[in-house]
Amino acid sequence: MDLTVLNAVGQLIDTHIKTSKSLNSPVLNQHAPEIIAKELKLKEYFSSGFKQTSDLLHFVSVYLDHTNHLSNPNYMGHQVAVPQDLSGIPELIHGSINNPSSLYEMGPAGATCEGFMINWMLDKIGWLNGRDYYDFEFTTGLGSGFLTHGGSLANLSALAAARSVVAPNAWVEGNPNDLVVLGSASAHYSITRALSLLGLGKKAFYPVAVDKNEVILIEDLKKVYEQALNNGKRIMCVVANACATSSGLFDPLDAMGDFCQTNGLWFHVDGAHGASALVGVKSKKYVKGIEKADSVIWDAHKMMRVPSLCTAVLFKDFMHQANAFQQKGSYVFHDNNVIGMDSMPYTIECTKSALGTKLFWSFALEGERAIGDYVDSRFTLAKEFYDCLKQDEDFEVPYIPESNILCFRYLKHTDDDDFQKRLRYSLINQKEYYITSCVFNTKRYLRVVLINPDTTLTHLRSLKKAIKLEAIKLL
Ligand SMILES: *Cc1c(COP(=O)(O)O)cnc(C)c1O
Repeated sequence: MDLTVLNAVGQLIDTHIKTSKSLNSPVLNQHAPEIIAKELKLKEYFSSGFKQTSDLLHFVSVYLDHTNHLSNPNYMGHQVAVPQDLSGIPELIHGSINNPSSLYEMGPAGATCEGFMINWMLDKIGWLNGRDYYDFEFTTGLGSGFLTHGGSLANLSALAAARSVVAPNAWVEGNPNDLVVLGSASAHYSITRALSLLGLGKKAFYPVAVDKNEVILIEDLKKVYEQALNNGKRIMCVVANACATSSGLFDPLDAMGDFCQTNGLWFHVDGAHGASALVGVKSKKYVKGIEKADSVIWDAHKMMRVPSLCTAVLFKDFMHQANAFQQKGSYVFHDNNVIGMDSMPYTIECTKSALGTKLFWSFALEGERAIGDYVDSRFTLAKEFYDCLKQDEDFEVPYIPESNILCFRYLKHTDDDDFQKRLRYSLINQKEYYITSCVFNTKRYLRVVLINPDTTLTHLRSLKKAIKLEAIKLL
């Protein structure tokens, strides 16, 4: 291994992060792909390779220029983790030795890190049942889980498990036509996408009405449930948002969990973004009742500073995980006793990367408490920004934030939806800020996700000023 090259690449990344952190480079300087392709010399390097180290370093340097600089404190865009400076090390190791962690034999250390972190996550939910984090054997009646590539795949996996309980024959026979899933009308699109992929069709999703903040109405859940029964349907599961992608608000997990328990329904919590509230001290209250779920998904690459992708699918009862896919591949599933554990039988993926290692690493770099404090601090900052905008009559802020996501609308001169979109685009093209926008309660809003640990209220006050200036330019 040429350590000089590695060192030089490290220098480039270090400079990139340092200039981003000190606001000395744009957050995002977008160019057309044709321009980037030429600057990266894709054709040249593809056909003849890097001829010398300087070519390789040129590529890395240009590549870093054409990125979204997440470590810039004015990065407030999508729900994508801002990693720690040394977060890349597990990926460097993985990329150098390539040990997929789905088969124990192919990567014992990675599989062990995954097992350990799954136990930690189960403990956070309250599903570890007093077992030690070093206990890697899952059995019926105990909590279990695995890591997979992203929340969308995780939701699909959990819904497949829910189906195997109401319709155990579906795996072989195909779907019965009476299965439905109830969930908030503001559920993430990966839920209905999963239903289509499972062959149930999008129409199997029975949306439950939401209030003006897009939070599920529990009375309506009862109504939709009765309706579904009257239509001769069987409820495959009930899905909760924890939290909703657009607003960052949490569905009432406790009440939904009680409802599901009373009626014997599978309760799935989509905690892609918000399950990380479990790590916080102040934030934990928002996921009260999460332990009443049968399955939970939890993205580590959103609020736990882990580079994408890394998502946990967690089950209250191992049996449900075990029965989700009733399939055997002779080369991977052992009938005899072997050392260690394979996650492969339970994942949609066959090969997968060493996800547990980078999840573990994020905690190992700073310690568990630091990640919890980070989550709390981002949630608190969103409230502070809410107060700041609330005092300014140029803005409408529709709700008190519960997480680190906040929607707001500039309405001094116009209440036009299209204006918000133009305003955002115009702002991000100034390259100093990166924010998003979304439709919330039928209207278009600007949206920030406060995920960078270095963002402060000062940056947000400046953002507010910058938005006002940009709006005047657009009029
Ligand atoms: C982000 C998100 C997802 C999708 O997760 P990916 O990891 O991006 O696939 C699903 N549900 C909710 C509520 C989310 O916020």
